[in-house]
Amino acid sequence: MENYWNKEIECMPREEMKKLQDERLVAQVKHVYENVPYYKKLMDEKGVTPDDIKSTDDLHKLPFLTKSDLRDAYPYGLLAKPLSECVRIHSTSGTTGKRVVAFYTQHDIDLWDDCCARAITAAGGTKDDVCQVAYGFGLFTGGAGLNGGSHKVGCLTLPMSSGNTERQIQFMRDLGSTILCCTPSYAAYIGETLHEMGLTPDDIKLKAGIFGAEPWTEEMRREIEKSLGIKAYDIYGLTETSGPGVAFECSAQSGMHINEDNFIAEIIDPDTGEVLPEGSKGELVFTSITKEAFPLLRYRTRDICVLSREKCSCGRTLIKMTKPMGRSDDMLIIRGVNVFPSQIETVLLEQGYAPNYQIEVDRVNNSDTLDVYVEMNEEQFTDTVKGIQEKEKSLTAAIKQILGISPKVHLVSPKTIARSEGKAVRVIDKRKLHD
Ligand code: ADP
Ligand code: ZN
Repeated sequence: MENYWNKEIECMPREEMKKLQDERLVAQVKHVYENVPYYKKLMDEKGVTPDDIKSTDDLHKLPFLTKSDLRDAYPYGLLAKPLSECVRIHSTSGTTGKRVVAFYTQHDIDLWDDCCARAITAAGGTKDDVCQVAYGFGLFTGGAGLNGGSHKVGCLTLPMSSGNTERQIQFMRDLGSTILCCTPSYAAYIGETLHEMGLTPDDIKLKAGIFGAEPWTEEMRREIEKSLGIKAYDIYGLTETSGPGVAFECSAQSGMHINEDNFIAEIIDPDTGEVLPEGSKGELVFTSITKEAFPLLRYRTRDICVLSREKCSCGRTLIKMTKPMGRSDDMLIIRGVNVFPSQIETVLLEQGYAPNYQIEVDRVNNSDTLDVYVEMNEEQFTDTVKGIQEKEKSLTAAIKQILGISPKVHLVSPKTIARSEGKAVRVIDKRKLHD
């Protein structure tokens, strides 16, 4: 049976949800226009006033906000409440450049915790669970978000933060953790360490994992599920919209439900900004309709995905987003071809390698080079030199078939690629050094 944290909202009929969104949007636009001079200026330049926004049907009239606006407005330019009413600051992990900061009132924290509580409940969590939060704590939103959600559900919460993997497993065993929250790359590392310690999933009580904050493939999901003996759920969010919990996976494990009572999602063409119909692949744009302190309107996430209103077996009516296929700024253009690291990951895992790899791009004699370093496990490593060369050849061919360009594959010894306790660094683009 499916568990809901807030069934009334999560299963609300579409027309009712739209009405709720309409009301909240109208109020939010007014709040922003009156309190955020930066956004008022953007609206004035576009010739839009709050009176033009009567419902979600008018959303397209509003200007977009981008990451560069957030950097321009750093630190206080998009703040919509007096600082004296704010209780917390978080910051992005800075994966793609200068950090941005986000502000929260107590009301904002409560709503965020609530979103994470929905995610934990959808993963089967109740007050009888022991929830180990191994996302980083600090300015990063992962730890704080899931910790808050876990408290709200009433789980016994272990605010472990990331790192010290053997100790993670020790506590997991001693205290009987049933739910693990961390990045998927860290979950894979914990699984690997468990086996190295001579343990199996039968030695731990974990039943579910809530993994997000970075892209991961279906193949990686199956790897993690096997190594930890759990069901692995995806969770999505970004600092600009609070943090994790904007969208979460249900028992169907086929995309994440967006918390539409708090966020309106749109898909746009990243080049033209045109709003695309449901089912199209494009850039995800969020409008937060309940946040007080940092209420971004039409924020361009740069994450590429597809939205769907198809009926979900879990009973939720909240719209679903596919796993982001990577951010538009994650995409590498190599010899003119668009390449997402996740495409390479899919091939590696399909061919029986663990998700320990690194992609290196460079430019030699005006031509792009693509090197893929893939770690072998002990068993693969005992092969003869010839055997390893054969494997490299077959990987090269498989990657070429997916990408259309040929990489240079290097199989490297076990334990030579650094493990990640937070967001994994998959790509080193050395071309930037020459620019
Ligand atoms: P940064 O942009 O510095 O990494 P954040 O820590 O706020 O800052 O990360 C938010 C980004 O992380 C999202 O925009 C998205 O690209 C990525 N992300 C978060 N959750 C997921 C997920 N479940 N799957 C894929 N990518 C995700
Ligand atoms: Zn569902």
